Amino acid sequence: MSKYDVVIVGSGPAGMGCAFSLLEQKPSLKILILDSHKYSTGGMRNDCKMNFTYPIGFPLEYWEEEMANEYLKKVINFFEPDILDKTNIENYQKRATRLGCSLLSIKQTHLGTDGGLLLIKQLLKKLDEYGVDLALGETMISLNKDKKFITTDKRDIYYSKLLIAPGRQGFHFLQDVMKSLNIDYVDNIVDIGVRVETQIDQYPIVKDYYDPKFYFPEKVRTFCTNSGKAHVVRETYTTSRGDKWYSVNGHAYSANGTNQNGLVNFAILKTVKLTAPLASGQQYAENLGIQAALLGGGRPLMQRVGDFRLGSRSKEHTFNSDPYNFKPSLPNCCPSDISLAMPSKILRAIWRAMKNLDTIVPGVLHPSTIMYYPEIKLYANKPTYKDEHFMVCDDVYFAGDGAGTSRGITGAWASGMRVAMGMLK
Ligand SMILES: Cc1cc2nc3c(=O)[nH]c(=O)nc-3n(C[C@H](O)[C@H](O)[C@H](O)COP(=O)(O)OP(=O)(O)OC[C@H]3O[C@@H](n4cnc5c(N)ncnc54)[C@H](O)[C@@H]3O)c2cc1C
Repeated sequence: MSKYDVVIVGSGPAGMGCAFSLLEQKPSLKILILDSHKYSTGGMRNDCKMNFTYPIGFPLEYWEEEMANEYLKKVINFFEPDILDKTNIENYQKRATRLGCSLLSIKQTHLGTDGGLLLIKQLLKKLDEYGVDLALGETMISLNKDKKFITTDKRDIYYSKLLIAPGRQGFHFLQDVMKSLNIDYVDNIVDIGVRVETQIDQYPIVKDYYDPKFYFPEKVRTFCTNSGKAHVVRETYTTSRGDKWYSVNGHAYSANGTNQNGLVNFAILKTVKLTAPLASGQQYAENLGIQAALLGGGRPLMQRVGDFRLGSRSKEHTFNSDPYNFKPSLPNCCPSDISLAMPSKILRAIWRAMKNLDTIVPGVLHPSTIMYYPEIKLYANKPTYKDEHFMVCDDVYFAGDGAGTSRGITGAWASGMRVAMGMLK
């Protein structure tokens, strides 16, 4: 029988932030971290850009500025990041303000997908040296809170304290756990939009500011900008009925070395808050995802801005020849007409934001620019927490993106630290 002082499910930043924080205060603790994968599958493994300015990554309902800044200081002390330089920000900010938009100037660093993997390996090595047991390739299935054990695909594991931090990938899993524990939750907020891909020359702001955070009217914002060795990728999701749907995402490798592809991609998303009778962002998103997959013959959709302006569907040939002068970094999408798949309220808000963006950074709406659809962010499971340390029932805690306490690596790390404080109380 396995028994630990602390069991942590998920080796992402929330899980690791908790583990390192516990070890710092009480190195004798017997800790187990388990993850379905060898290396965590969230932001540290994909692109790994870290934001160190409130409120980026810190949902306002759980984080007041003063508290978040206290934790951010500790996160900075831990990582000692090389903060990226920014230039000409005031110019972009002035242009944005004139249009009723804003540009947040934030401290950030970018390790890239390769740099992120290196970081994960270093952190796992440190944890191993501290004597933490790592069960990588083991999946938690269920929880018995009365007898204080979890069941994985390999065994039962008893705990004194348990943190479940399964990230966005664990969205459904966490909902199942909450149902089994009778924990009330809401998931009524979802971000829906497109991923834009263009040449760096059409969006040169990224030379001044790696991941510019623009905010537009109607709850639209830019998110997760990648450039240099940047790629759009496809993520596969499965509904509870077993239907598959796809969302796009983006990442970039570190700036070191060669193979720059000269492209930039970023998401432009609208936040949608649903109320009864459909108060589930997840169900809404799934249905939009399925509709897009249906139109795309099982693939995400892509459309050139030039075609979109003309109201025409993009065709295969528009992804090969002049004047459409670059090839998509995610080629296995379906050339299509995204306005057939996207609800008009969302599409109109996003297109208005893109026109504003093109005024602030002229060029981004070049006819060759590609819009991929859908990009959907499901990270709004909001359980009812019993205390400020994210406890959901006796000795069980949730944290990270899957549990709604963060929206980024640094916020997730800080959430894990906050759980550790609760466990040690
Ligand atoms: C593709 C992608 C790129 C991203 N890029 C960035 C970025 O550059 N910067 C940024 O700030 N944020 C980024 N994010 C958001 C980022 O993932 C999160 O903010 C952060 O990683 C969340 O940390 P977490 O610990 O909550 O979850 P994660 O980092 O997702 O870690 C959760 C872990 O739990 C494991 N898990 C899930 N269910 C189980 C189970 N049942 N049993 C065992 N293990 C399980 C998963 O395998 C996963 O490794 C990205 C997200 C994605 C999906």
